Formats: sequence, C-alpha cells, structure tokens
Amino acid sequence: MTQAQNQKPAIKGKFTTATITRRVDIAHDLWKIWLKPEQSFAFKPGQYCTIGAAGIERPYSIVSSPDEPEIELFVELVPLPDGNLTPVLHKMGVGETVTLRPRPKGIFVIQPKYKNHVLVGTVTGTVPYVSMLRKFLADPEWPEDQGVPRSEHRFFVLEGASYVHELGYDEELGKLAAEHDFIEFMPSISRPDEEPNKGWDGATGRINTLVEDYVAERGLNPLETCVYACGHPQMIEDVRARFEGTDFHFIEERFWKDDD
Ligand SMILES: Cc1cc2nc3c(=O)[nH]c(=O)nc-3n(C[C@H](O)[C@H](O)[C@H](O)COP(=O)(O)OP(=O)(O)OC[C@H]3O[C@@H](n4cnc5c(N)ncnc54)[C@H](O)[C@@H]3O)c2cc1C
Repeated sequence: MTQAQNQKPAIKGKFTTATITRRVDIAHDLWKIWLKPEQSFAFKPGQYCTIGAAGIERPYSIVSSPDEPEIELFVELVPLPDGNLTPVLHKMGVGETVTLRPRPKGIFVIQPKYKNHVLVGTVTGTVPYVSMLRKFLADPEWPEDQGVPRSEHRFFVLEGASYVHELGYDEELGKLAAEHDFIEFMPSISRPDEEPNKGWDGATGRINTLVEDYVAERGLNPLETCVYACGHPQMIEDVRARFEGTDFHFIEERFWKDDD
C-alpha cells in the first residue's frame, strides 16, 4: 500500500496513484512536479487531473502534453491556515506518492473552430496553454480540422503576474514565440516599481487591462477569435466583462472562487 493510501481520511471511490519523479521550486510558494502515473493516463490538453494526499483531493490543470510519459503540474502554495492540500504537497518530494483519479476532467480545451487563440492566464493559469502548445508542436494531426486548416492557427499567450519570478514558463513560451511566427507571448508585471521586479523591461499592468488593446492592435477578426481566460477569478471576471456581448468567443477556467 502506498503512503498516500495509508493516510487518513481515506479517499472514497476509484483512484490510482502516481509517484513524484521530479520537483523544481521556482519560488518559495511555487513549484513544478512531475508525476509518473501507476496506470496510463490519457487526457486532452487543457484538462485537469485530480490528485490527493492525506485524504485531501484537488484538481490541477496539466502542463505536459498527453504525449509525454509523465504528468507535469505547476502548483502555488496556499499557506496554512487557508490552504489544505498545498501545504501537504509542498512538503512532498521525489519518490513519494499521491492519489490520482483515473480519469481527467474539464472542457477548457482548444476550440479548433477558431483561427486565433488569445490565451490569457495569471501565474499557474498559463498551465493549460503550455500543454496546448506542446501538443500542437509535437502532433501534426492536432487539433482536428474543424474548418480551420492547421496552418492557419495562431496563438497569443498573455500572462500576468505580480512578480517576474512567478512566470513559471516564460523561458519556454518566449523561446516558442521566437521560433514560430504563429506564436506570440506577452508577459506583463503588475507591480513594476517593486524591488523584485527591478530591471523588468517588458509590459506592465494587469493583464486583463491589456487584452483589448492587444487584440485590436493585431486586428484580430472577432468571429475567428476565441479568448481563453484561466487562473485568478478577478482577472477572469474582468476579461469576461470586456468580451461578453461582442463577436469574440470566450471561455474560462477558474482555479478558485473569489468568495471561497
Ligand atoms: C479546474 C482547476 C484547475 C486547477 N489547476 C491548478 C493548477 O494548475 N495549479 C494550482 O496551483 N492550482 C490549481 N487549481 C487550484 C487547486 O485545485 C487548489 O484549490 C489550490 O492548489 C489550493 O489548494 P488547497 O487545498 O491548499 O486550498 P483550498 O482548500 O483549495 O483553498 C483554500 C482557500 O484558498 C483559495 N485559493 C485556492 N487557490 C488559490 C490560489 N492559487 N491563490 C489564492 N487563493 C486560492 C480558495 O478559494 C479557498 O478560499 C485548480 C483548480 C481548478 C478548479
């Protein structure tokens, strides 16, 4: 029996386990883990898995592409006394196991009917977009053609964070944007005057306040554009308000509720 199964309270229903094979801390409260699932775990880019430890389960969007052998996650610590699972996960390292529900969930997936994908996220909210881009670049058959030829898809990743060190995938996204003219990446820092952001010469301001101008500057046709928003509920609320009632298609994934 694995360590997670031994812990109480017990998790009810069907679950399997996954072993932590690697961990990279990028800040005191942000880290990446790679999980080797006990059973094969098929999912669509943008979906999430449900993991647990000490009898507590939470959903986590998956960073990795389904073609990768391990499940990569990017987790933010919600410190005690508010956080439940993350304080437990934060103490776990390589070789330890978590529970894993056997099936992924979620409908925050690529919308292949649209040519332009405006992918707006805050910190861990960029996770589904990394998975989508990794899959797009690795699999010439993906996404399924739904009227838009693969060669016409364009991706615009807009990431907001308070601090530079919270940008967990900026190197990867920046590299992809430099290598492919159908990918753009714009990180923005909302507290440029604070010491940890010294030297930042990129965009500044809350990402939700920059999206409309960004989209307008590129002349994206609303009928051909899906705006995705993921992560912080207030960012999502604001982006939704800006695009709802327009011809843009809008979808969202909230990681937590504001009134929780
Ligand atoms: C579909 C989905 C995908 C998710 N994917 C990710 C992911 O990729 N990475 C990730 O770190 N989290 C993700 N989350 C959030 C995750 O499920 C947990 O809620 C989070 O890790 C905190 O867990 P916890 O048990 O420590 O605290 P919880 O018991 O879940 O929450 C405690 C309190 O903190 C609030 N809260 C939760 N998360 C945050 C946060 N990040 N910042 C501030 N307050 C918060 C809750 O609303 C609640 O009031 C996702 C959530 C959903 C619904």
